[in-house]
Amino acid sequence: MSQHLSDRIQSLPTSATLAMAAKARELKQQGKDIIGLSLGEPDFNTPEFIKDAAIQAVQDNYNSYSPVDGYGELKDAICLKFKRDNNLEYTPSQIVVSTGAKQSIANIAQVLLNPGDEVLLPAPYWVSYSAITILCEATYVEIPSSIDTDFKITPEQLEAAITPKTKMIFFNSPNNPSGTIYTEKEYRALAAVLEKHPNIYILSDEIYEHISYGEETFSFAAIPNMYDRTITVNGVAKAFAMTGWRIGYIGAPEWIAKACTKMQGQITSGANCIAQRATITALEAPVSSINYMVKEFHSRRDLILKLLGEIEGFKLNVPKGAFYVFPDISSFFGKTIKGTKIDNASEFALFILEHANVATVTGEAFGASDCIRISYAASEENIRTAISRIKEALR
Ligand code: GLU
Repeated sequence: MSQHLSDRIQSLPTSATLAMAAKARELKQQGKDIIGLSLGEPDFNTPEFIKDAAIQAVQDNYNSYSPVDGYGELKDAICLKFKRDNNLEYTPSQIVVSTGAKQSIANIAQVLLNPGDEVLLPAPYWVSYSAITILCEATYVEIPSSIDTDFKITPEQLEAAITPKTKMIFFNSPNNPSGTIYTEKEYRALAAVLEKHPNIYILSDEIYEHISYGEETFSFAAIPNMYDRTITVNGVAKAFAMTGWRIGYIGAPEWIAKACTKMQGQITSGANCIAQRATITALEAPVSSINYMVKEFHSRRDLILKLLGEIEGFKLNVPKGAFYVFPDISSFFGKTIKGTKIDNASEFALFILEHANVATVTGEAFGASDCIRISYAASEENIRTAISRIKEALR
């Protein structure tokens, strides 16, 4: 009967990150000793002070619908956060709280894209950008990069990719999957190109902003000429280990915020009320309250780079943020290992899953077919065991 499903769903790819996580979970349930390095989610617990705020919200009877765009107190806290961390001036009417940054991104795409519009995706890019674009019947245009340039695109590449149909660019720094962080100077050079094309909107996904290892992060909307056409996306999942709480938000020109609220009002209504109350507490806390997690991710990054560096055939760069490494493994293509021929990154990831019991994600899902994504949001012990198993499997 699946042929009766809509063309829309039939043309939609399954989320590769979630599919791999589901597969790892299923294999674990079957008794296999799988180490999951596929999902980008902190392995820490949500900090106690945030959990306490949620418990308090339950006691205080926060159980009714919230305003569609979020509680006023939360929107105030988000405005203060934008000012404090990003030097961005937003008023509450420019803020929309959603059920995760993913919903924020889907809202923006739904309200800005028409069928046939083009969206620029600097590759590698997070898997759902392309899928969300497809859902809007728009087309995505990849702007390729490689490990040799730290997965950064140039202003010349950006200029060359723009056509009269270009409506939006999805920009993500620190980047998932590469961990790349663009410098302020690099932002400004890209903005100089976009300035010449006033009809292009910028979706700036800053969900990993606090997971940075010494590199300054920057915001597209902080460039004066970009402010009026940038939608800044953020959320609490990555910074505060709150992935399952599902709270994301945007700061945007008011007319875009209003449209997102209208869209959300027909699809999900306001986000979970308890999680919203807890988010107020998370955002009001000093950024230093999460330093212990960032410090830990930093040392795990160094560890995983050292261990992967000992495996012949892995080409690595040094990711500056997020919690992923994105090695180029194309040197294995065409080789037969343990009777299995590996011709692409998907086959490589599958080989690792079957022969090392380690779940990773193929780079193909991120628009980078020479790479795989390995998340190091995992314990040091699991990282050590996983990489030594991969080494052994490839021997
Ligand atoms: N954003 C995370 C990842 O890339 C969570 C899974 C997802 O939503 O894609 O692994």
